[in-house]
Amino acid sequence: STQTETHEFQAEARQLLRLMVHSIYSNKDIFLRELVSNASDALDKIRRAKLVDSGLRADVEDLHIRIEADPGQRTLTVRDNGIGMSRDDVVDLIGTVAKSGTAELLEQLRSAEDAEGSRELIGQFGVGFYATFMVADRVTLVTRRAGEDTGTRWESDGDGTYTVEPVQDAPQGTAVTVHLKPKDEEDSLFDYTAEWKIREIVKRYSDFIAWPIRMEVERRGDGGDGDGAGDGDGPQRELATLNSMKALWSRPRSEVAEEEYKEFYRHVSHDWNDPLETVSLRAEGAFEYEALLFLPSHAPLDLYTRDSRSGVQLYVKRVFIMDDCQELMPEYLRFVKGVVDAQDLSLNISRELLQQDRQIHLMRRRLVKKVLSTVKGMMTSDPDRYRTFWREFGAAVKEGLLSDTDNRRTLLDIASFASTHDPEQQTTLAAYVERMKEGQEEIYFMTGSSRSQIENSPHMEAFHAKGYEVLLLTDAVDEMWVEAVADYDGKRLQSIAKGQVDLDDAAAEENEKQEDDQRREEFAPLLSWLGESLGEQVKEVRLSTRLTSSAACLVNDAHDMTPAMERMYRAMGH
Ligand code: ADP
Ligand code: MG
Repeated sequence: STQTETHEFQAEARQLLRLMVHSIYSNKDIFLRELVSNASDALDKIRRAKLVDSGLRADVEDLHIRIEADPGQRTLTVRDNGIGMSRDDVVDLIGTVAKSGTAELLEQLRSAEDAEGSRELIGQFGVGFYATFMVADRVTLVTRRAGEDTGTRWESDGDGTYTVEPVQDAPQGTAVTVHLKPKDEEDSLFDYTAEWKIREIVKRYSDFIAWPIRMEVERRGDGGDGDGAGDGDGPQRELATLNSMKALWSRPRSEVAEEEYKEFYRHVSHDWNDPLETVSLRAEGAFEYEALLFLPSHAPLDLYTRDSRSGVQLYVKRVFIMDDCQELMPEYLRFVKGVVDAQDLSLNISRELLQQDRQIHLMRRRLVKKVLSTVKGMMTSDPDRYRTFWREFGAAVKEGLLSDTDNRRTLLDIASFASTHDPEQQTTLAAYVERMKEGQEEIYFMTGSSRSQIENSPHMEAFHAKGYEVLLLTDAVDEMWVEAVADYDGKRLQSIAKGQVDLDDAAAEENEKQEDDQRREEFAPLLSWLGESLGEQVKEVRLSTRLTSSAACLVNDAHDMTPAMERMYRAMGH
C-alpha cells in the first residue's frame, strides 16, 4: 500500500540481528519464552494503566496470551490483548536497541576471541524480541495501543530493513507471527508448530507467568483441561491453558524446584544466566509482604551507568505495580533483582507517595538487612560463591559504606580487599586484624589505580621491609569511603601515603629523633635548595625515614586529596 514505509534498523540493532540470524545461541527454544515474556509484560501494563485511569478505552476483562500454530504455513503466532504499541512505539522499541550497555556489548563482542566467548557475552545481555530471528526468516507484528484506533503492522526478514504500515481492524494488543525457516528434515526436535514442543517450552520456561497462556490442542481421551467441542468424527480440539500461573513467591521454598526459580529470575531480570543466590522473605503481622530476590551471577554491563530498569518489581496483592522500584532497594544494591508483593498498599500508589511511605521504608530496611546477611552467610557456607559475588558487585556494594551508615559495620564485615598478604586472594578486615603484628594499632592501606602501581610505590618500601600488611585499594570508590570510615573494630584505618605514619615503638622513636636532628642539619642545604627549585609545586621538602631504597617520594598532607582522588574530581569536571 502507499502507506507502507520502509525503515532501516539502527546500526546496533542491525549488528544484533546479524548475530541472531547466524544463530549464536545453541538453544533456539528461548525465542518463545521471549515472546511470552513480552506479552506478559504488556498484560501487566494494561491492567496497571486501567487502574490508574479507569476512563481508558481498554478491555481488561479477559487478559490472556494465545499461541496459534499453523504447521501448513509453518507459522507460530503469540497474541496478547495487552497494552499494545503505537506506531512510534514500534519504531522506537522494535527498530532500535534502547537497552543500555549495547554499545559496550558490541565492542566486547568485536574483541571476543571465539564463538564460545561471544555466546557467553551475549548470553548476559539477552536480545529479547530479536531472538525470533534465530528461527524465523520473516517476522510480522500487528499491534494496537490501548485507547488508540489505528493499529500498526510491522514486518522484517531480519536483514537491514523493516516496514511499517497502518492497519484499521487490529484488535487490542499485539500479535507476533514468526514465519519459521524451512524445516530441517533431520530435526523433528525443532518443529515449533508441534503441540508437544510448544507445551514443553511453555512448561519449561513460562509456567509461572501470571496470565493464562492458551492454545487450541487435541482433546485428550480422559479429563482434558478445558471444555471440549461436542462429539463427532476426527480429533476433537479444545482450548487449553498451558501454564500453572502459580505466583512463585507465595509458594513455600521447599516446594519450588531450583529450575523454576531460575526461569523466574530470567523473566524478572532479563538476564539469561542463572542467578547466583535466591533470597526469599515473608513478613507477617501488621504489614504483610513477601519478597523473592536474586543476586545475579554477573554484573550487568551498565552497572555503573545506572540506567538499568529491571531491579525490584513491586506487586500489591499479586497485581504488578512497577518495575525497578528504587524505594525498595538502595542505590548500592541496584543489581538485586526480584519481586516484592505487599498486602496493604494501595493499588494506585505512585512513586511520589512511595517515597514518603513509612511502611515502604521499613520494608526496605528489612530487605537490605536480609540481602546483606545472605551475603554474610555465603562467606562461610560457600566461600567460592561469595568471592564471585564480591568480584562482580563489590565495587558497587562499597558505595554503601558512604551512604548507608546504619549497615556500615555489616558492610565492612562482608567486604574484602586485595592485600600484600596474598597476591591471589583478597582478605576481609577481620582476617587482616587477626594477622596484625604485635604492637600494630592501625590497619594500613593505600589507594591507587592498580595493584602493581601501589606495590611499586615508594610509600610501600618501609612497610614491606618491616613486614606490615597493607591493603591495596584500587576501585575509584575506595578513595571516597576511606575518608568516611574511621576504623574497623577499634582499629584506625590509616593510609600509608598520607601524613606521618609511625612504624616504630617509642624507644626507637627517641633514638631516631636524635639521628633525624643530625641528618636534618646535614641535609639542610640540600633541602632548602630543593624547596627553592621546586617552588610553588610543593608545600614543603622534608627528610623522611620512610624510604629504604628510593631517594625521594611525594606525600600528601593528612587532609589533602590523594592523587587518584584528584584525578577523579578532575574527570568529574571539578
Ligand atoms: P525487553 O523486553 O527486554 O524490553 P524486547 O526486545 O523483548 O526487550 O522488547 C522490546 C520492547 O518492545 C519492550 O520493552 C516493549 O516495550 C515492546 N514490546 C515487545 N513486545 C511487546 C508486546 N507484546 N506488547 C507491547 N509491547 C511490546
Ligand atoms: Mg522482552
